[in-house]
Amino acid sequence: MPKVAALIVAAGRGHRFGGEIPKQYCALYGEPVLRHTLSKFVAHPDVNAIVTVIHPDDRALYDEAAAGLGVIEPVSGGVSRRESVYNGLEALVNIQPDAVLIHDAARPFFTDALISEIVAALDLHVGAAPGIPVADTLKRVRDGFVETTVDRSGLWRVQTPQGFRYPEILAAHKAAAGMNLTDDAAIAEKAGFDVVMLEGVEGNTKITRAEDLDMIGLARAAQWEYRTGQGFDVHRFEPGDKVQLCGVSIDHDKALAGHSDADVGLHALTDAILGAAAAGDIGEHFPPTDPQWRGANSSIFLRYAAKLITDMDAKIVNVDVTLICEAPKVAPHRAKMRALLADLLNLEVDRVGIKATTTEKLGFTGRCEGIAAQALATIRVRAEE
Ligand code: MG
Repeated sequence: MPKVAALIVAAGRGHRFGGEIPKQYCALYGEPVLRHTLSKFVAHPDVNAIVTVIHPDDRALYDEAAAGLGVIEPVSGGVSRRESVYNGLEALVNIQPDAVLIHDAARPFFTDALISEIVAALDLHVGAAPGIPVADTLKRVRDGFVETTVDRSGLWRVQTPQGFRYPEILAAHKAAAGMNLTDDAAIAEKAGFDVVMLEGVEGNTKITRAEDLDMIGLARAAQWEYRTGQGFDVHRFEPGDKVQLCGVSIDHDKALAGHSDADVGLHALTDAILGAAAAGDIGEHFPPTDPQWRGANSSIFLRYAAKLITDMDAKIVNVDVTLICEAPKVAPHRAKMRALLADLLNLEVDRVGIKATTTEKLGFTGRCEGIAAQALATIRVRAEE
């Protein structure tokens, strides 16, 4: 088996990126981009050693990104990418690998199979680079106007990792000192070495702009699925002077009967949330036969349902409650109810709907025998693979 080293170029300052932190250290799925890149090389059976070229100012960021991965001490980059790679190649002199894979830190989406193909290609060739044939029509533009359409046949977009036999690429880099060449395949070409082009991976893009990370965030959003639950509850009136509705105590000429505080709105909403999680109903979690819930503040039930959602690594997206009664009037209390539910559920207020309707004096609500409530809740859960 040939001895293969990986050389990760992470010395860029990311001026095009615009953020405070160079792109290779920005978080992707909660970990630095560089860590994703390094982890893939660490895990690959063909790769024996990994050296990263960094900007000296980024040492702390690097240490955090590479912590525990068992890679060798990083080296400092030069003023250009070419010089940075050269410094990395020099650092491998003691290891004397047979081959080196040179890779941009900000390309975390290469595949294990791509590494294997490149390493295998070096049996026959001095260099191997992955690329994708250009599919878009190419124009040469001058002063904002199309000058000509460029024949795209035979044109490829080149990616990394690019693999080379180590002694040859080290010599080619020495010979290329002072030249302005943008990748290592170009340096091998200059030296007259054969570089075979392999089919790259379409998703193996380089994170260049802040929007690229946003796009990846969107792709991640596609990994969510949405589930909706509904709830319904009724409580009858009994003599009294106030009712509890969606957490708010409202003066009224009757009270609602119930084992707890009889907050019909919160009960319907709790059931909606439990329903979205397919986690049974409120009576199952808080049996009315259990004396500890006598007179209980129903916000306990709602908080319980909300915690059940966070415990399953899901998130409530929005809730909507409809209170059905002739009286009391809900509108004067709506803002307070929304703020209260938003607080209980840890949601923005604009994710909490409260509506009210009468039933045109029809049915039990129309006869003012009680109050009914309906609720919907939508939750976001991670889609199964
Ligand atoms: Mg109830």
